[in-house]
Amino acid sequence: MDYKKYITVVEDYPKEGIRFKDITTLMQNGPAYKEAINEMKEFAKDKNIDVIVGPEARGFVVGCPIAYAMEIGFAPVRKKGKLPRETVDMDYGLEYGEDQLSMHLDSIKPGQRVLITDDLLATGGTIHATVKLVEELGGIVAGLAFLIELDYLNGRGKLAELGEYDIFSLVTFQ
Ligand code: 5GP
Repeated sequence: MDYKKYITVVEDYPKEGIRFKDITTLMQNGPAYKEAINEMKEFAKDKNIDVIVGPEARGFVVGCPIAYAMEIGFAPVRKKGKLPRETVDMDYGLEYGEDQLSMHLDSIKPGQRVLITDDLLATGGTIHATVKLVEELGGIVAGLAFLIELDYLNGRGKLAELGEYDIFSLVTFQ
């Protein structure tokens, strides 16, 4: 499927010079959304995944339906202060801004195999911190799946600082 035709490129959002890839137009189209989720599930199906992890908020939009389809759990990564129980926290840098991400301490058991999902891989800062959180909790990152990859921001290079990972993206923007 040509997913690009369902993704809207918004100029100068959230600030000047950024060409934001808006996935809400893909989500509004039932068959396109479903097929995108199915393709991501296909990538994950032979990896013996125990749990899916995704950062707020759009990581939930892709991660939760994959978890539902695979009949496994989903563990959220949230901005610090948003999770109610004891957390592990990690600094991260964004394409625009800086923050801390958190996961509940009990959200992954040591040795569990994890699929990390998000809507979009840009500089890789968000996912870099997410991989570190998962590994700190003893999880094994068995794969990473994105709807969109912005090739020119080299998120893969950022992830390579941490190790070799199996990375899948449905759509690439050069
Ligand atoms: P990174 O940390 O890789 O630089 O940025 C990726 C994160 O920022 C993702 O969680 C993603 O949701 C958000 N993000 C950055 N740029 C865009 C964009 O153009 N479109 C969308 N949908 N999300 C973006």
